[in-house]
Amino acid sequence: GRPAMNDVLARRERVLGPALSPLTYDRPLYLVRGSGSRVFDHEGTAYLDAYNNVPVVGHCHPRVVAAIARQSAELNTNTRYLHDSVVELAERIIATMPNDLDTVMFFNSGSEANDIAWRLASIHSQATGAIVTDWAYHGVTTLTTALSPESWPRGEKPEYVETIPPPDDWRWSVNAEPIGGDIHIDEAVAKLRARGIAPAAFFVDSLFTSDGIFNPPPTYLQEVARRLHAVGCMFVADEVQCGHGRAGTHLWSFQASGITPDFVTLGKPMGNGHPVAAVVTRREIAERFASGADMFSTFGGNPVACKAALAVLDVIEEEQLRQRAHKVGDHLRGGLMELKDRHEAIGDVRGAGLLIGVELVADRETRTPAPGLARDVLNGMRQRGVLIGTTGPAANVLKIRPPLVLSMSEADVIIETLDASLGRAHSPAYA
Ligand code: PMP
Repeated sequence: GRPAMNDVLARRERVLGPALSPLTYDRPLYLVRGSGSRVFDHEGTAYLDAYNNVPVVGHCHPRVVAAIARQSAELNTNTRYLHDSVVELAERIIATMPNDLDTVMFFNSGSEANDIAWRLASIHSQATGAIVTDWAYHGVTTLTTALSPESWPRGEKPEYVETIPPPDDWRWSVNAEPIGGDIHIDEAVAKLRARGIAPAAFFVDSLFTSDGIFNPPPTYLQEVARRLHAVGCMFVADEVQCGHGRAGTHLWSFQASGITPDFVTLGKPMGNGHPVAAVVTRREIAERFASGADMFSTFGGNPVACKAALAVLDVIEEEQLRQRAHKVGDHLRGGLMELKDRHEAIGDVRGAGLLIGVELVADRETRTPAPGLARDVLNGMRQRGVLIGTTGPAANVLKIRPPLVLSMSEADVIIETLDASLGRAHSPAYA
């Protein structure tokens, strides 16, 4: 039989160490099975998964499972040999991108994809400086950690990195700072230049997931891109978290702004859990790199990974999951807005499609974050059978990011469960 929860917990403590992946929840969750938007724990209790974006087409989708199993039984090699799967996947991805983005390279994780995008960008621009948002997350490698203020030990900003505030129009409106008025790009470039560093690339998650989830008007990223290109700085759209239909209106969230990035990085949901990631860029950028060096990723773009990624694209299309994210996301945000009328602690409800942030505050006037309340709501919702997360620099923004198969009635369950969890937890003392 399955080892008992306390046994696994104690053994995990001994062998995994404290550095990687602290467990979520006061009482850890021991999950053993999943299907669609549901996961089940070791005692058979079902949870509505309103948090995990990796199983974008639903946990253990039979199409993806079968594609992986079939290809595993047939052949799994690497991209030094011809195989149709990697070509087909590249063609399928390119067909969804702006025209200039005509070249794809495959890797195994979002971190790797961003790491490679950085190498290509710095070679192409012949510069060494990076710009990211204040609380960005772009990966776990040494380089991508440098691009991830969320992961910096206090005060340890690398010399070649500058940050800009995310477009937090809810908080900015308090100080009457309009979006697009001062987007801080020029300031960041000037700070780098003052240290003798030219900007190579700006990395951004177009829905600002780790910054607290923001969905600025299209003019925001247009203006950012315009100012970056004016100083020769390349634009990397990190779609690792917010891509694959989550935004609802478009397959890739940067498309809502109508911009053409120099790089798009893909990962997380790309294989519905099977490791596969990609960098999409222009041919000339890849050629400049190839003229100076050779690059090979052992697992990147292998036939099994490609079949998983193709199956995910098929299911998103056939089950119209992007359209569903749009419809169900609007319904969910609407219901959460109504909760705001009844719960003082809800300061703001925002996002796009099925990426939704609910900001909890101790005081709506001052907009003081309420991280203690957010933690209690997170645990309270789990108690009631719904899994969500928290995000933002103060960890006071509830993060709702379910598989895109979420139904209208499941959206209602999320709303009712948040209502109940806030009802119990709410108290001004929680700030
Ligand atoms: N970029 C973004 C926006 C992410 O959310 C993540 C993962 N949370 C990464 C990059 C890194 O991806 P991975 O964990 O697959 O290396």
